[in-house]
Amino acid sequence: MFYNARWYDPYLKRFAQADTIVPPGAQGLDRYLYALNSPIQYKDPSGHCQQRTNRTMVTFTSEGQDWTQQEMDVVCQQIYNVAIAEAKMINSRNYLLWRMGEIDSYRPIGPSTALYTIHNGPIEAVRSNETPGWAAYTRSENEIVFYNIRTPDGTIITNYVANHPRLVTHEMGHAVINAFGINEATDINIPSDLLRPLMGDSSIDHLNDINGAVDPNEPFFGYAGGFEDYQFGYIGSRWREEFADMFVGWVYHFGDTPMGAQRNAFMQLTMVNLVDLIP
Ligand SMILES: [Zn+2]
Repeated sequence: MFYNARWYDPYLKRFAQADTIVPPGAQGLDRYLYALNSPIQYKDPSGHCQQRTNRTMVTFTSEGQDWTQQEMDVVCQQIYNVAIAEAKMINSRNYLLWRMGEIDSYRPIGPSTALYTIHNGPIEAVRSNETPGWAAYTRSENEIVFYNIRTPDGTIITNYVANHPRLVTHEMGHAVINAFGINEATDINIPSDLLRPLMGDSSIDHLNDINGAVDPNEPFFGYAGGFEDYQFGYIGSRWREEFADMFVGWVYHFGDTPMGAQRNAFMQLTMVNLVDLIP
């Protein structure tokens, strides 16, 4: 499955852009132009993005809503953790190939190199001032936009991202898929018994508690942790969201429920095979 030759087609990488569609909503193009015309560039605020490396892992831009320090710190931490997981993935694979005599030398890479290799550079974190009804959207292999989340009376929840850090890692799961130019539904066969049950419609609906009211009929599924800790799949492709949620578990090695252990075992194999797609 993972060795399907067409995955090596460099043109396939172009299809990664399929996930870059501007989310529905007014002023989508205007919003984008705002960022292009009036970018507010933030520098690595906490040092997390440059920890043990001299390369920036995250750049911050604003589309009408300023980043808070806490938000930036959390985004940096999460992406740094993803980069470490990606480096381990690449290094363990290359080490094995070297031990098997398939490559001549082995030199481990660090997290920033892994991030740049897979995502073609740093991650651009965009803070939007819109309220589309979801918290974040991954536009490409290296661009994630974060939206306002509001209370029922319309107040913007301050530091929503900072208080839901795994959301960033979930979005990085989408970014990885975009980077490899693959389709979760057709290229990654998640066994059906590892999928979270649907709640009566064809779109996945893990997270109907975006304003804090947890649906008691939707028990935690797969990984430990509560809603908005390890489950962010909201509306859209079932497989896309399942993969992104399982990616969170893969990065943090969460598998302390029977289903979580099964999902983690599946992800270990999946991610190792994805390494072969790196040019
Ligand atoms: Zn998602």
